[in-house]
Amino acid sequence: MVIVMKERATDAQIDAVIALLTEMGFDAHPSIGVNRTVIGAVGQGRGDRQLLAVQDGVHEVLKITEPYKLASRTYKQENTVVTIGDVRIGGEEVIVMAGPCSAESEEQVEATAAAVKRAGAKVLRGGAFKPRSSPYSFQGLGEAGLRMLRAASDRHDLKLITEVMEVSQIALIEGYADILQVGARNMQNYSLLRELGHAEKPVLLKRGISATIEEWLLSAEYVLAGGNKNVILCERGIRTFESYTRNTLDISAIPVVQQLSHLPVVADPSHGTGRRDKVASMARAAVAAGADGLIIEVHRDPDHALSDGAQSMFPAQFEQLMAELRVIAPAIGRSICVEPVARRGWSR
Ligand code: PEP
Ligand code: MN
Repeated sequence: MVIVMKERATDAQIDAVIALLTEMGFDAHPSIGVNRTVIGAVGQGRGDRQLLAVQDGVHEVLKITEPYKLASRTYKQENTVVTIGDVRIGGEEVIVMAGPCSAESEEQVEATAAAVKRAGAKVLRGGAFKPRSSPYSFQGLGEAGLRMLRAASDRHDLKLITEVMEVSQIALIEGYADILQVGARNMQNYSLLRELGHAEKPVLLKRGISATIEEWLLSAEYVLAGGNKNVILCERGIRTFESYTRNTLDISAIPVVQQLSHLPVVADPSHGTGRRDKVASMARAAVAAGADGLIIEVHRDPDHALSDGAQSMFPAQFEQLMAELRVIAPAIGRSICVEPVARRGWSR
């Protein structure tokens, strides 16, 4: 249920409603909007809606009919903007995250970070702990990889996103990264999600390989229910009968999620297609469909990458794509790195 407070409800009235909800056995999650405060009541509580409706300062009490509550638009009408310093995900600007699938060496991370920054990316991506389908594939450099990624991010004024695979890695990765990525294979790792609900850093939650949109939003709910309000959803393609592409990027999930939820949604056309010759088309489509951001694999020498080389773009391809996206975004009232670094004469 969601308790919508009156526009002029006082702090004391809000506190009194929270206290009553707690007494009824609910977890109360206040959300302070531009005009009014709403309080989400979730959990196993039992309470009389009429009793809540007559409390001072209460405007109305609504039932949230969706199985996910805090992730729903009924709970929060305004878009959530996840803010990391000067980077805002979910606002007017489309944020591009780019970098290698895996950190492989200092030189590789540095060269790729320089290239994606020059093209206008705001966030460096790169895995240090890799969830590989085969136990014999490269598993990532671990903490040494995190150090390389952090150093390159700092050198190029980029934020850093990297994957966390298990609960025991959260504290370590939080010390290096700005955004914690939950991979597709872990979308329903509920103990990991529960723990990330207490993390200080935002979480990017990839859609599971065969997850429905409802299951995906329920996974986001685990993180939100733990108190971490900074969740970004990522459509990365789902498994269908089609085998030409690695996955089927579900572009329609973007507007669907934006209708159902206030959380920002980004697209990953790299894992979504598995082929670098198809990444640009799908990135353009995702931005046109309203994605709040993109996460794209770029490698200085993709044909020799230790993971996901076939879907990793060459830096020049990525730069070309960014130029195209800068034309597409304004058509739907968005922007992408309006002032490209290269044009400001920045070089390295
Ligand atoms: C990745 O981002 O490199 C990755 C492993 O992604 P996914 O979890 O979507 O497969
Ligand atoms: Mn990858």
